[in-house]
Amino acid sequence: MALSRQAVEAISKQVESYREFLVDFTAELVRIPTVNPYSGDASARRETPGQQRMARQLEQMGAKVETVQVPDDVFVRSQVVGPAPRDYTNRYNVVGRWTLGKGGRSVLLNCHMDTVGTAGYQGAPFSGEVLDGRIWGRGSTDSKGNLVVGLVAIEALRHAGLPLDADLILESVVDEECNGSGGGTLANRLAGIQANGCICLDGTDLYPCIGSNGVVTAAVDVYGKAGHAASGAVNAIDKAVMVKLALDKMVERRRAITPPQNMNLGIFRSGTLPAIVPDHARLEYNISYALTEAQAAKDAGLGWSAMLVRQEFESIVQSIAKVDPWMAEHPPTVSWIKDLYPFQTSLDEPIVKAAQLGYRAAGVREKQPAPMGAWFDGAHISIYAGIHTVGMGAGVMATAHTSCEYVQIDDLVANAKAVALAMYAFLSEEL
Ligand SMILES: [Zn+2]
Repeated sequence: MALSRQAVEAISKQVESYREFLVDFTAELVRIPTVNPYSGDASARRETPGQQRMARQLEQMGAKVETVQVPDDVFVRSQVVGPAPRDYTNRYNVVGRWTLGKGGRSVLLNCHMDTVGTAGYQGAPFSGEVLDGRIWGRGSTDSKGNLVVGLVAIEALRHAGLPLDADLILESVVDEECNGSGGGTLANRLAGIQANGCICLDGTDLYPCIGSNGVVTAAVDVYGKAGHAASGAVNAIDKAVMVKLALDKMVERRRAITPPQNMNLGIFRSGTLPAIVPDHARLEYNISYALTEAQAAKDAGLGWSAMLVRQEFESIVQSIAKVDPWMAEHPPTVSWIKDLYPFQTSLDEPIVKAAQLGYRAAGVREKQPAPMGAWFDGAHISIYAGIHTVGMGAGVMATAHTSCEYVQIDDLVANAKAVALAMYAFLSEEL
């Protein structure tokens, strides 16, 4: 199936006419700091100013606009293991809706407004400077350029003069970054926002992204006894090292499976002064897990989760504790900070075919649909809400979360064409 030449030309021409808006509005959003409050930046506020600007823009574009406040207990309500407590005071999603013709099949565009922090950023993080065919600054690649791609794709579709009975939804969400675990996106699912298909714009490298690994975060608290070494104190660091060495074997094992799954010790915290024997140490691990592992857990009646990985982790900690007399009496405790499931959308799904068709028709060099390693909000839309989801992003992977972020203007334009064409293909049921 191919798109008609007339449709491709009409949509592409429309997108080209929004090129200046695409650049200017991306730069404007970069100049509005929306650093995630959990970024570690002392100056970080909230996404609010960016969301206010976005709401105004959507209204100008004739959308029906609503805001969705993220409830503080969003993870409890949705029964997803997520970071808690998490402060969502005055942090809300902005949702725009348009009806084309008589309305009908619907597509949801999802992207996030928050960015990572700016510590170590070289130059002015919020310059939004346009130079060398690029837009520079924190959030340009991840993911404000993509957010504006969504707006342009919708405008192009609305003004291309093609008959279409459909509904379009764009959601600009909060709290994707900095361990946010998709709290914003999840809140929209709890609010019942549904669609027949979703294009998640938070991505890079212009290809149909059909899924992601899961990721689970473990915290291990290891206990000692404070005091002077001569008076029977027990050093929690010594005990934590034993736990770490036992878990190293699991790290090796996970690196050896196909496809390899990363397990990273990211935090090892203990101690106050050299003269004091510490009575507590904490280790935190991020463990990525594969679709097959979630499937195995589900088959075992444990739900679509990292339950089997978690059981292995806990049993390793328990076994090492058993062989150490102190730890046998004062066992380390394992807690789970988050368990974010993996997802994969079948190549046969119309939304995936539409994305492929969109890239082809937009003249983007063909890349096969593939999942990405990192977790992203698309998982909640796919698994929690059951909406078939594909990622289409124009970001530059190598610059996301780095000290010098930019996005290529030509990539944004190409992605806007591809997204608009994909939506058209999906909505007109040319698939
Ligand atoms: Zn992102």
